[in-house]
Amino acid sequence: MTLSGRPVSGVWRAFLYADPAAHSLSPALHRAAFAHAGLSGEYAAVRVPSAALPAALERLRAPDVLGANLSLPHKEAALPLLDSLSEAAQAIGAVNTVIHRGGRLIGENTDAPGFLAALADAGAPAAGVAVVLGAGGAARAAVWALRSQGWDVRVVNRTPGRAQALTRDLGGLAQAREEVPWEQVSLVVNASSAGLAHQDETPLPGFDFAALPPSALVYDMVYKPRETRLLREARRGGLQAENGLSMLAHQARLAFVAWTGVRVPVGVFLAALEEAA
Ligand code: NAP
Repeated sequence: MTLSGRPVSGVWRAFLYADPAAHSLSPALHRAAFAHAGLSGEYAAVRVPSAALPAALERLRAPDVLGANLSLPHKEAALPLLDSLSEAAQAIGAVNTVIHRGGRLIGENTDAPGFLAALADAGAPAAGVAVVLGAGGAARAAVWALRSQGWDVRVVNRTPGRAQALTRDLGGLAQAREEVPWEQVSLVVNASSAGLAHQDETPLPGFDFAALPPSALVYDMVYKPRETRLLREARRGGLQAENGLSMLAHQARLAFVAWTGVRVPVGVFLAALEEAA
């Protein structure tokens, strides 16, 4: 899609719907993108409690609205409320981007391709054995994305039943930490929230990173704090380790191009994060 002309109001609008919505970095990202693209646009983070989601989505059908990002607790709840879903959103079972096109609302998941783009930036190998830690929405996006690229995916989660449910839906193998053939693993992804709220928390307590090949990459989707305990310990073990800021930037870049048709370089989003985070 390419935007032609201007909306009646003169300004394109996009939103984040979440609860809570304050402290989100998305407004900084998309305002930088509007400015770079030379588009007159506004992006607002709106606190939308669960009960208000249907009405909030209806408001996206206004002619000057490009769409919205969805975050906790709406990524799954929005699915039945939209007119259509992309293949990724359908398979993953989560929507992080709603695209408004001619009165219709399309559900998309840019976390999955955003994650793959972040891996490519980090120089990750093309495929091999990957371990995904966690079994929530972010883990589902990671498993779907990795499997689409031919990775052999092992899912390790605190609650094993959730890992089993995930792999039943998306493929891959649910394993206990002790069952993973660590010496064959070329990618470890933290898609759990361990390390998010408590800085001394890690999804792999007491793990010996020497068990991994020296070329393995550790990717932590957590970006606040930037340097999690997992990343610190992986680097101390001599491994390359990256935080989730690059995925955050890429998922926003992909949402922006889906809304506007304008390709804004990822560096614009990374610079905005650098300033805001
Ligand atoms: P979610 O649906 O709530 O899932 C959380 C997962 O983390 C569950 O599997 C849970 O295990 C596990 N977990 C929570 N605390 C843990 C702990 N202390 N030790 C081990 N496992 C723990 O959350 P989500 O939406 O998938 O998000 C997960 C993380 O990804 C968050 O930190 C989020 O910020 C991040 N994320 C980053 C990006 C990005 O762009 N960088 C995008 C999306 C998400 P149980 O099943 O046992 O409860």
